Amino acid sequence: MSNDKLRPETVAAHALRATDQTTGAVVPPLYLSTTYARDENYEPLLKENYVRNGSPNLWQAEDILAELEHGKAALLFASGMAAITTLFETIPQGAHVVSLDVMYYNTREWLQRLEAKGRITLTLVDSNIPGALVGAIRSNTDLVWIETPINPTWDVIDIEEVAKAAHKVGAILAVDATATGAVTTQPLTFGADIVFHSVTKYLNGHSDVLAGGLITRDVNPRWNELKWLRTKSSSPLAPFDCWLLMRGMRTLFVRYAQASNNALAIARHFSNHPKVERVLYPGLATHPSYAIARRQMTNGYGGMMSLLLKSDFAGSKKFCTLLKVIIPATSLGGVESLAEHRKTVEGPTSTLPDNLVRLSIGIENVNDLVADIEQALKEI
Ligand SMILES: *Cc1c(COP(=O)(O)O)cnc(C)c1O
Repeated sequence: MSNDKLRPETVAAHALRATDQTTGAVVPPLYLSTTYARDENYEPLLKENYVRNGSPNLWQAEDILAELEHGKAALLFASGMAAITTLFETIPQGAHVVSLDVMYYNTREWLQRLEAKGRITLTLVDSNIPGALVGAIRSNTDLVWIETPINPTWDVIDIEEVAKAAHKVGAILAVDATATGAVTTQPLTFGADIVFHSVTKYLNGHSDVLAGGLITRDVNPRWNELKWLRTKSSSPLAPFDCWLLMRGMRTLFVRYAQASNNALAIARHFSNHPKVERVLYPGLATHPSYAIARRQMTNGYGGMMSLLLKSDFAGSKKFCTLLKVIIPATSLGGVESLAEHRKTVEGPTSTLPDNLVRLSIGIENVNDLVADIEQALKEI
């Protein structure tokens, strides 16, 4: 049966029918070999025969990722940051880049480093100012890099509007869609050129693989350059990590649905709590991005939220240590809920409020999570 007709939940659960052709193994074998022998005519048996260029487990995982994002092709990297910095390597010397002043801080710091070195010119905009993002795009803009929902405000950006503006000047739009888990928004269908995922997060979902993915709308010269760069910089995802990722992706949709349901319930519950100034969650009607989120996030609002506590820097940090079920750790998108005081984690360049606690809501029983947050709030 053609996979074109299958819905994404089925594609994920069956790992795109990765059943082994020779043995019938329903779970595909793991090929750890770094090198592959040639045949009797000295012809390669596979399309690549050295693991830095590609491997069977890598191709299987990439095909699933491309399918889930409605893309033509996907590339998996040894980390999210490896994927991001490889894409930035394709920016022509001196070209202009538009991005956000609040977003995943390592990406912002890397762009600022490229600007400081004279490699690019950079405009970072406040996505809350209407029209600011589109207005920052110039005739020499090469890349618009956005995140949606934005970490850690969970503001949602209208991808279609930004894509149109970028394409008018011949720029490409790349979207960090990590928080969507490839479940609730497919940026390529809204006109984005490249989607990025920190695959470490929802796609793997078990906090045991570091990985990044790029997915493209078109296989074009820039995409081929990305592939070339990944090989030369030795950053493809290793076979065992690909194998673990394929296992993780089988349950992606049920994990994301449960995390979304839990998060919405928690966001609603704590919206009017005396110790909480505000809950930032795009699924709340009071969130500034709610209208766009409703249109663009069609399969749940995800498990990511932030609490602005009625407390100071020390109190908000202490809150994270008072939780007994939710784990005080960075990262997101795993089955277990995590909390972090984001300003402490981001360090001295952080512009975030002192009282912001980021929560990555997992798939636990929601009553245990609500009770845990309640008891910690009592203590601050
Ligand atoms: C974690 C994360 C990254 C970086 O990915 P790594 O896999 O940790 O290198 C980039 N963007 C967002 C939104 C993230 O959460």
